Amino acid sequence: MKITSVKSHVLSYDLDEPLGYSQNYYTKRSAHLVEIETDEGITGIGECFGPNTIALANKVIVEQVIGPLILGRDPLDREVHWHRAYNGMRDHGQKGMPIQALSGVDIALWDIAGKIHNQPLYKLLGGAFRDRIEVYGYGMMLQQVPDLAERFASESAAIKAMGFNAMKMKIGKGPEEDLRLVKAVRDAIGADIKLMVDANHAYTAQVAIPLGRALQDLGVYWFEEPVAPEDLQGYRDLCESLDMSIAGGEAEFTRWGFRDLIEKRCVDILQPETCALGGISEYLKIRDMAHAHFIPVVNHVWGTAVCVAVNMHLLAAMPDLPGGAHPAQPMLEYDTTPNMFRENLLTEPLGVLDQVAANGGWVELPTGPGLGIELDYDFIERYRVNA
Ligand code: CA
Repeated sequence: MKITSVKSHVLSYDLDEPLGYSQNYYTKRSAHLVEIETDEGITGIGECFGPNTIALANKVIVEQVIGPLILGRDPLDREVHWHRAYNGMRDHGQKGMPIQALSGVDIALWDIAGKIHNQPLYKLLGGAFRDRIEVYGYGMMLQQVPDLAERFASESAAIKAMGFNAMKMKIGKGPEEDLRLVKAVRDAIGADIKLMVDANHAYTAQVAIPLGRALQDLGVYWFEEPVAPEDLQGYRDLCESLDMSIAGGEAEFTRWGFRDLIEKRCVDILQPETCALGGISEYLKIRDMAHAHFIPVVNHVWGTAVCVAVNMHLLAAMPDLPGGAHPAQPMLEYDTTPNMFRENLLTEPLGVLDQVAANGGWVELPTGPGLGIELDYDFIERYRVNA
């Protein structure tokens, strides 16, 4: 079998209401899918992390830098293709956009492999350790409303009503406002729901440590990206100073980037983003490196239904850490803010929200070969960005 084409679909639409995090507000939803075709009619789908203009630039890397390196080659030679592409790009970017682009290509090659073997991805990864996965609801993005605490209180109550037992909210507006927001949410959802906060690296360690102490008192389960991804010492200081879990890793790339984060024990919970860090092949190396250091992995998930499906397989195939009769279980991150690319992209939706409502916060594993998904090409044509 030979690879005959490597192409990107960049999709976008305008949001009704801007949605923000501590660094920026989005006015558009976007998506970057990778599609790899073969001479035997099998097609693989992948996804690259990176919004809007980043996606358009990554499309050029996928189609004009990585594509020519693998055209005409066997799609099953994933490791060979990964290293060839990485070595070809290394002098021009060991992190960031080239690696995001490579991620989508690698994921599409795994999808092809699953379809060739007629097995779901998790089988190729060594099998499922669990037959269902707990889901946590991501929501409460920053919004430009008169009283954000009031908005967060009603949104968190709605997420609880959807069936989630754990949820995550944005912070990063300054410690005082952050604590007001977290208190409003805690009051709305009660003490029994697991609550995580995400600062998107808004702070220095000097500010984040006392803020973390106050968050701890409000029963926050993890403090995500308190400081800049480059600030490994700041991460380390936070881990030393606080009892609560420090989470991070979504803005790190490849085994070499994660090596330092893991070996220096900069996080209590590692959050690798497979659509950014180098794809499934690279994720597996990073997961195993984290587990070798007994650091739990809770995958970062942000994107379309493709990314969600990828992570359902990865979480199914994650070994228990440590082993035992009652091991702690990984959770699937699921965005609950409006996104058609998550809910309407597939001919048969994943139905995560329906399952969460029916099963008390859990989803079952996908069953089809590869990622187990089919794209709706009419939908894709409707939202394609013509660049
Ligand atoms: Ca995050």
